[in-house]
Amino acid sequence: MPHTFPQCEEVHCSESAISFSGTCWEHTSQESYRNELAGNLARLKKDPAPINLKKVECEDIDFSHLDLSGSSFSQIRASRCLFVGTKLKEANLIGAHFRNCDFVGAEMMKANFTRAHFTNCTLSHSDLQDSYLSEVSFRECDLMGAILFDCVLWSADLDGANHLKRSSFLDARPVSRFTQCRLSEKDPYMACESYRSLKHRFHRNGLYEDASWAAYKELTMERKHLFLIKSPRYFPSLLMDILSGYTEKPHRVIASSLGIVLIFGVFYYLLNALRSVVDPGMPISLWDNIYFSFISFTTVGFGDLVPKVTWWVRGLVCLEAFSGPFMAGLYIFTLTRRYAAG
Ligand SMILES: [Zn+2]
Repeated sequence: MPHTFPQCEEVHCSESAISFSGTCWEHTSQESYRNELAGNLARLKKDPAPINLKKVECEDIDFSHLDLSGSSFSQIRASRCLFVGTKLKEANLIGAHFRNCDFVGAEMMKANFTRAHFTNCTLSHSDLQDSYLSEVSFRECDLMGAILFDCVLWSADLDGANHLKRSSFLDARPVSRFTQCRLSEKDPYMACESYRSLKHRFHRNGLYEDASWAAYKELTMERKHLFLIKSPRYFPSLLMDILSGYTEKPHRVIASSLGIVLIFGVFYYLLNALRSVVDPGMPISLWDNIYFSFISFTTVGFGDLVPKVTWWVRGLVCLEAFSGPFMAGLYIFTLTRRYAAG
C-alpha cells in the first residue's frame, strides 16, 4: 500500500504537502526549503519514516544509507544527489528526473520508476527486483551488477543502460536450487515486447548468447499471449518450441529428431506395418521397426524392409520421409542462427 501524506495547507490546493513543510512544492518557499533539507534529512537517520518530496527540485543532497521505504519522489528533479545504500523499497518515483546521481547499492525493490529519467547516473549493485521500470529512460547510466529480476521493463529506453546483460535479470534470492533469469511475466504481451527490445539491445552490443536468451523468451511470451487470446497460431508456435526452441536451441532439433524416429518406429511396430523383402515370413522386432524408421527418416531407403501395401502405412512412411529433410534443414538453420549471428 502506498503511504499517504497530508494535504497542502493552502486553500483550493489538492496537492499533498511535502515533508518538513505544511504545503506542496508550489506553495513552499523553495530557497529556504532547499537550505534546510539536508538538516531535516539528518534527523531521519535516528527515526526513519517515509517522506514526500513530490516535484521538489534539489541539488547536492545526501540521501545515503537512509531508510526511505515507501517515500514519494514523484516528479522530483534531483541532480548530483547521493542515494548510496538508500532503502527505497516500494517508493514512488514516477516521472522523476535524476541527473548525475549515485544509486550504488541502493535497495529499490518494488519501487515504481514509471517514466523516470536517469542521466549520467550510477546504479551499479542496486537492487531493482520487482520494480516497475515502464517507459523509464537511461542515458549514460551504469547498471553493472544491478539486480533487475522480475521487473517490468515495458517500453523502456535502454540505449544508455551500460553493462546490462542477461545476468542482470538473474534471481538473486532463488527459492529453489534452479536459478533463472527473467523479467516480470505477469502480462505476456508486455513481457514479449520487453524481451524483444532487450534482444535488439544485446544484439547491437555483440552479446549474442544473451540475445538468443531474450529471443527465446520473447517467443515464449508471444505463445502465452496467443494462448490467452485463444489464437490458432498457438499450436505452430508450440510445435516450433518443441522442435527447435524457436530456432535458438540446436540440441532440441537433435532430440526431437530422435523422438520422431522412435515414435514412428513404435507406431510401425504396434500396427505391424512392415514386412521383410528377403524373407517374407520373418518376424519383425521392435528394433527392426526402429531401424526402418531411422532409414526412412534419413531418406536412405535400403529396401530390406518395406511397408505393407496399405494406404495408411504408406502415408505414415511418406510423412516420416518428409520430416527427415525438414528437420535437417531446421538444424542447419538453427545452427547458423545460433553460431553465425552477427
Ligand atoms: Zn499547494
